Amino acid sequence: EHHAPGAGAQGFSALDTEKIRETEEKYVFETEVSKIMKIIINSLYKNRDIFLRELISNASDALDKIRFMSLTDSASMSTNSNLNISITADPVARTLTITDSGVGMTRQQLKDNLGTIAKSGTSEFLSKMEESKKDDVSLIGQFGVGFYSVFLVADRVTVASKSNDDPAQHVWVSDAVNDFTIAEDPRGNTLGRGSQITLHLKEDAVEFLEPSNVESLISKYSEFINFPIFLWKGHN
Ligand code: ADP
Ligand code: MG
Repeated sequence: EHHAPGAGAQGFSALDTEKIRETEEKYVFETEVSKIMKIIINSLYKNRDIFLRELISNASDALDKIRFMSLTDSASMSTNSNLNISITADPVARTLTITDSGVGMTRQQLKDNLGTIAKSGTSEFLSKMEESKKDDVSLIGQFGVGFYSVFLVADRVTVASKSNDDPAQHVWVSDAVNDFTIAEDPRGNTLGRGSQITLHLKEDAVEFLEPSNVESLISKYSEFINFPIFLWKGHN
C-alpha cells in the first residue's frame, strides 16, 4: 500500500461538512458549461471510463506548469517537492480520489475554471453538435471533454486545491445539477500544493473501486504521462 504525501485526507467528517456549509458560497454554472455537462452525461455513458484519462491529463498539465515555473522561481517548488499523481479508493465511502502535486488553483481559479468560464471552443462545439443533430462521439473526441466527464461516474465531486498564490486551501463541491459551492477547506492546508479530486461514485460505477480495473485504464489511456502515478493496492 502506497500513500503519497497529501493523499491522506479522503473525505470530510460530519464536523468538517458542517463548517463547509457555514462558510460556503454558491455559484451557478455558466449556461454553456451546463449545456456541455448535459451533452457529456447523455452521450458518453458508453465511454464513461474516459473520465480517468481526463483527470490524469489535467493532473499532468498542472504538474507541467509548476515544473516550468520552478525553472525561473525555484522557491515555488518548496510548498511540495514531489511531482506525482496518486490514486486511492475508499470502498466504504465509495469514493475514488486523484491527487496531484501540480500548480493547484486559487479560490478564484476554482470558480473560473470549474464552472463559470467555459473553455475556448465550447460555443463552436455546441453549435456543431446542434448541426449534426446527433450525439457525435467523434466530435467530442475532437474537442476534448475535460473535467466535467467526472459526472459520468460520480454524483458528487469535491475538488480540494492549494495554489502558491492563495494563502488558504479551498474546496469546490458539486452534484452537477445547477450549481457548485466553494469554501475554505476546514481541514486546512493538507496538500501543501496541488489538487485532490474526490469522486463519490454512482451506485453503478463501483467497478472503479477495483485497483486492477483502474490499473488497466491507466495503461490504456495514460501510457505517456511524464510523472509517476501511484496506485493503491488492494482494499483499505
Ligand atoms: P482543459 O484541460 O482542456 O483546459 P478541463 O475541463 O479538463 O479543460 O479543465 C478546465 C481547467 O481547470 C483547466 O484548464 C485547468 O485550468 C483547471 N484544472 C482542472 N484540473 C486541474 C488540476 N488537477 N490542477 C490544476 N488545475 C486544474
Ligand atoms: Mg483537461
